[in-house]
Amino acid sequence: MLQIPEFPLIGGYLPTSFLDWEGRVAAVVFLPGCNFRCPFCHNAPLATGLAEGIDPKPVLSDILRRKDFLDGVVVSGGEPTLFARLAELLSWFRNVAKLPVKLDTNGSHPEVLEALLGDRLVDAVAMDIKAPWGKYAELAGVPVDTERVRASLDLLKSSGISLELRTTYVPGLLSMADLHRIRTQLDGDQRWIVQLFQPANALDPSLRETASPKRDEISGALQGVRVRG
Ligand code: SF4
Repeated sequence: MLQIPEFPLIGGYLPTSFLDWEGRVAAVVFLPGCNFRCPFCHNAPLATGLAEGIDPKPVLSDILRRKDFLDGVVVSGGEPTLFARLAELLSWFRNVAKLPVKLDTNGSHPEVLEALLGDRLVDAVAMDIKAPWGKYAELAGVPVDTERVRASLDLLKSSGISLELRTTYVPGLLSMADLHRIRTQLDGDQRWIVQLFQPANALDPSLRETASPKRDEISGALQGVRVRG
């Protein structure tokens, strides 16, 4: 019987997801807290730390029990790089449960990503690109040192790891011209995906009445860019 270590409370658990890691059946572990306050965030209680935490022990035990039916574990948030024992947690998934790991991040902690990559603790990363660099604070809801986000981007691109870059298109906060700017700042990177804003649980209540953007509107204006949602 494998030992399940003690970890701090986690934010949530989705035993099976077909959506969080493309082409894979994954368990999703949500870690609490976030340093951003994106007005469009659909997981506000988790991001703000107001969600009641859950004991990770039964979660890890469940993942271990079902590991032969899973293709991996997605570690999401909140912002996972804030979790004090992230490296130990990822190491447990990879080296004890023997499952590949995908990490979701807002890219604000390049030094954490560098250490995780150096220790080979992640197999794939999905990183948010919130906005054109000049508009970042508006979409993140807090002042952001975009040099750090850019450092994370450079690090991940040069690491050769499986990488997804994603932008949530929020009408009213981002324009189509902004999406074109982001495409340019990413040098047309094929790994960029535009996600459609889901207004229902937006952190900023004034956005909850916003109409969902139309997929065709984006696909038509950004030929060749993948649209999700
Ligand atoms: S959407 Fe923004 S506030 Fe919400 S978890 Fe992600 S980075 Fe944090």
